[in-house]
Amino acid sequence: MRICRTISEMQQACRELKRSTAQERGLGFVPTMGALHAGHLSLIAAARAECDAVVASIFVNPRQFGVGEDYEIYPREFEEDCRKLESAGVEILFAPTVDEMYRPGATTFVEVEGISDRLDGASRPGHFRGVATVVVKLFNIVGPDKAYFGQKDAAQVAVLRAMVRDLNFPVELIACATAREDDGLAMSSRNRYLSAEERQRALVLSHALETAKSLAKEKGSNAQTLREAMLQKLKAEPLLRVDYAAVVDADTLEPIEDLSNGALIALAAWFGKTRLIDNVLLGPVTHV
Ligand code: AMP
Repeated sequence: MRICRTISEMQQACRELKRSTAQERGLGFVPTMGALHAGHLSLIAAARAECDAVVASIFVNPRQFGVGEDYEIYPREFEEDCRKLESAGVEILFAPTVDEMYRPGATTFVEVEGISDRLDGASRPGHFRGVATVVVKLFNIVGPDKAYFGQKDAAQVAVLRAMVRDLNFPVELIACATAREDDGLAMSSRNRYLSAEERQRALVLSHALETAKSLAKEKGSNAQTLREAMLQKLKAEPLLRVDYAAVVDADTLEPIEDLSNGALIALAAWFGKTRLIDNVLLGPVTHV
């Protein structure tokens, strides 16, 4: 696996890689912030299965962290990540420094209005502006045909889908299913912040989502019933502080009441200083 540290080196390496492949199934790209787990590797595996070649990036993007968030302590495990990416079959890894990505005085941002202020965007102002800006830069540097993101970050997927559509990026955005631990906890680089007790109690998130999902099938249920059921479960958990328990349209992230056209059921909660998110997608529901 080749490792590129500069933008110009990466641009050239990706151009060469594209030229050297059959160019039938395209170049796949998986952007990450490192501290890789099986969720990240499932994106690489999907890209590997669907593309001629796969490139990845590791960049802890300061612009998507708010003041007082975990940018400084975010886990960084470069050597181990490289080993994982190499055995997963990644051809090129882009791992720039912050100074390489953001030249002094850079003042251009990408803002996906509206969607960026909902769900995680409401609790983390400026977060999706940072995400959209870095993803545009990475797309311009890599020039992928397909880009892989985790459905675990459902709001991020909605923001980036809108961005790709609005700005006519020639990139197919593919959302991959959430990888979970055996007990159902969604995998996350931030799970390691949890104490043993918090880790155990964090299962309430996936349990609350399962409750909402089965409730949705019951006659007479609507989005409000689901929200209330999730809140009741979450609020019974003393170590947890609810950020949101939402039932929204998966594309616009706006609250919905009627479930008949499907829904995104999404949760965010704090365990001490650790913020965890999880969600499930509900297909169209018909009550007979
Ligand atoms: P991150 O390194 O947290 O920025 O994540 C990089 C990519 O991996 C994003 O597209 C995430 O949505 C995705 N990802 C993170 N956790 C999971 C998971 N448990 N299952 C699937 N994809 C994930």
